[in-house]
Amino acid sequence: MNLYKEIAEIIKNSNYVVAFTGAGISVESGIPPFRGAQGLWSKYDPMEVAHIESFLKNPTKVWEMLREMFEVVFKAKPNPAHIVLGKLEKLGYLKAVITQNIDGLHQLAGNTNVIEYHGNCRWLLCLKCGKKEPVKKELIENLPYPICKDCKNPLKPDVIFFGESIPFEIMQKAENEAKSCDVMLIIGTSGIVYPAAGLPYIAKSNNAIIVEINLEETPYTQSITDYFLKDKASETLSKIFHYIGS
Ligand code: NAD
Repeated sequence: MNLYKEIAEIIKNSNYVVAFTGAGISVESGIPPFRGAQGLWSKYDPMEVAHIESFLKNPTKVWEMLREMFEVVFKAKPNPAHIVLGKLEKLGYLKAVITQNIDGLHQLAGNTNVIEYHGNCRWLLCLKCGKKEPVKKELIENLPYPICKDCKNPLKPDVIFFGESIPFEIMQKAENEAKSCDVMLIIGTSGIVYPAAGLPYIAKSNNAIIVEINLEETPYTQSITDYFLKDKASETLSKIFHYIGS
């Protein structure tokens, strides 16, 4: 049996599939990942500009990067990898997507149970008074940075910057999904940003079958991965999906 067909059979025979996704799944939608010097990140060091300390010290500089990032993210559309995950949910196999991405592409592809581990780009948050505003063009274009209507402090996208903690409810929800699944699809993540990166180990310790799709090996590959597919997410998931219906 070919590998794609074998994985399709595993999905069809499963009770509860969960996908754990990272920046790599959105690369084919035109959003560059952090690792690998491409596009935006050859100009900015994410560990520097996406750190909460940098935002607090110099929101003007961080917003220069954020404006460019928003432009890339809001132009992006779901690619075949996102679309296959949407279809797997519709067919009843995929129960949840835990994503480290902030781009909202899983929801656009039709997934309804999406745990956004690192927040999202749709809201802006005031760190001072806690007010949340939906992202609007005029707010983002406000120079030197968007400010809170109420307390006039800088607004920050509602994403988790390096140095910030993950909200407890999100960690708990994601852990529960990782514990519940009998198959986990790990797609396009380098597996090094913790605590998110720990979720596949939780799934494995609860006997889930681990299917990993990535262009290169990660810390998971030799330790917990059962099936490693070394190729682009869109092609690989489309090939697997081909056998789901047959
Ligand atoms: P990462 O940048 O560390 O790693 C990306 C991984 O994807 C790499 O292992 C790479 O080999 C793989 N990859 C690249 N292109 C691929 C493709 N076409 N198909 C399959 N795999 C591919 O990303 P990460 O592990 O998600 O962790 C970094 C952090 O970056 C996350 O916290 C996330 O919040 C943030 N981030 C998000 C976005 C987004 O929302 N789209 C983009 C950049 C960074």
